[in-house]
Amino acid sequence: MTKFTDLALDPKVLSAVSDAGYETPTPIQAQAIPPALEGQDVLGIAQTGTGKTASFTLPMITLLAKGRARARMPRSLVLAPTRELAAQVAENFDIYAKNTKLTKALLIGGVSFGEQDKLIDKGVDVLIATPGRLLDHFERGKLLLTGVQIMVVDEADRMLDMGFIPDIERIFQLTPFTRQTLFFSATMAPEIERITNAFLHNPARIEVARQATASENIEQKLFSITPSRRDRSFTEKRALLRALIESEGEACQNAIIFCNRKIDVDVVAKSLKSHGFDAAPIHGDLDQSQRMRTLDGFRDGTLRFLVASDVAARGLDIPAVSHVFNFDVPSHAEDYVHRIGRTGRAGRKGRAYTLAVPADDKYLSAITSLIKKDIPAGEVPDFTASPDRPPREDRNKDGGRDGGRSSRSRSRSRSRRDEDRSDAAPEAKPAEVVEDKRADAAPEERAPQPRQERSDSRSEGRGDRRRNDRRDRRDEEVVVGMGDHMPDFLTRSFKTS
Ligand code: AMP
Repeated sequence: MTKFTDLALDPKVLSAVSDAGYETPTPIQAQAIPPALEGQDVLGIAQTGTGKTASFTLPMITLLAKGRARARMPRSLVLAPTRELAAQVAENFDIYAKNTKLTKALLIGGVSFGEQDKLIDKGVDVLIATPGRLLDHFERGKLLLTGVQIMVVDEADRMLDMGFIPDIERIFQLTPFTRQTLFFSATMAPEIERITNAFLHNPARIEVARQATASENIEQKLFSITPSRRDRSFTEKRALLRALIESEGEACQNAIIFCNRKIDVDVVAKSLKSHGFDAAPIHGDLDQSQRMRTLDGFRDGTLRFLVASDVAARGLDIPAVSHVFNFDVPSHAEDYVHRIGRTGRAGRKGRAYTLAVPADDKYLSAITSLIKKDIPAGEVPDFTASPDRPPREDRNKDGGRDGGRSSRSRSRSRSRRDEDRSDAAPEAKPAEVVEDKRADAAPEERAPQPRQERSDSRSEGRGDRRRNDRRDRRDEEVVVGMGDHMPDFLTRSFKTS
């Protein structure tokens, strides 16, 4: 078995690696580090959790140890799709480069240009950035990319999902042809294949096992229900989620709860809070500082439930997550693999529970064919849907600073690139009033049922699902009362004299 000392890494890097407690290189590290140290391009097909960050950071630090940075001309560049991932790479860099004098700058949205400009002006060895923010700096004339010797593209498949590929191509063209490229992607979509053919020169191609194949530590279960009425599926899934959390008791130390849409992330987090659960949302429309605070709280154990969209949680390195709940079955099977991979890390056991309704059947089939096994059915606990009653300060907050809508429009106006695209989860439209005659024709209240069979499920199409989701939110508004919509003047006091 390869040891770190077999790899020709700088002794300062080796000592940092040993301080980090790593004993042996992971497969991607063992295979990517030698060609990277020889100056060869690397194409790594690997997911997060495989140790891929160190597989490019360690050789970069070793290679950059000789030489000095010049003002405004970074010597290396790491591109990551989201702010959180970029920040995580920067943290990794700090750990592995702690015995060197190498400098770095992190260019991400939500941080003032001024501070970042100062760092770049001084000269940095490693520039870690999201693509849009990097181009913003470049276009302001504050940055030259002609000194880049090593360029890393991390999570290229996510860049593709987020529409960053044209930016990546442009950045490739701004850097010298002679640069070394280390390129990582979890999958090789045709578009990714195309840019690697165009911009990588004879790369060492390294593919490591998919995370799904190494998930014996994760106990997966599927909790299927047939809602008492179609338009109550959102409400009843929230009740089921609470019942599942309660039935897990102390075994559920903390959990990431995934929703497919940002708007639902907010509603589910708010609903859990109103029922006394310690929950907070994370998605790309929230302020950067708020996202960081929420993540820090979750990492240090002061926050128990993180309600997340796929992109916001993708690649985040939080080793001790006891449970993952898929509040929604993901519509891309690959996301299922990424989501459940947030638990059962670093040799720990984890549980991944998925809530499903009949309309999810086709997504479930795609997942089972991807992971090549059925998700075992769990026993649905008793649950009763009860209304959410957000505390007053929450209602005010949601209509104000921390609310999804207002921060969304704020971030829109701030930057045209990655601040907008920091989270590519599908955008939901505001609730609309849509008449659904079939649902109205069957108004009787039945208790929600665990699903016995799926035969009726295929009758509910995507259109029905959308309509029902909208109706769910209408129900929600009825329960909340005036809630967020209370005009400001009604809350003011008036002088009578
Ligand atoms: P990554 O795939 O880069 O997100 O890394 C996933 C996790 O593995 C991180 O928590 C790293 O700190 C950890 N890690 C990276 N390399 C090693 C190693 N050789 N041995 C043990 N843990 C590692």
